[in-house]
Amino acid sequence: MLFKKKEKPLVAHTVEKCPSCKKETKRKFKEGDMVLAQSSECAACKVPTRISKIFGEPIE
Ligand SMILES: [Zn+2]
Repeated sequence: MLFKKKEKPLVAHTVEKCPSCKKETKRKFKEGDMVLAQSSECAACKVPTRISKIFGEPIE
């Protein structure tokens, strides 16, 4: 998913939050990501993380 704003193209990122240790992990957005959806497993707690935020960042 790409956003365009002025001259700078933005690339979507997804923030996953672990409900157990509250650790937030940022990764590239992938198709099907939705806020509050379950995502990948927390490496430390072995529980599914939830998507807390989806945002756009300028491409470097
Ligand atoms: Zn965790």
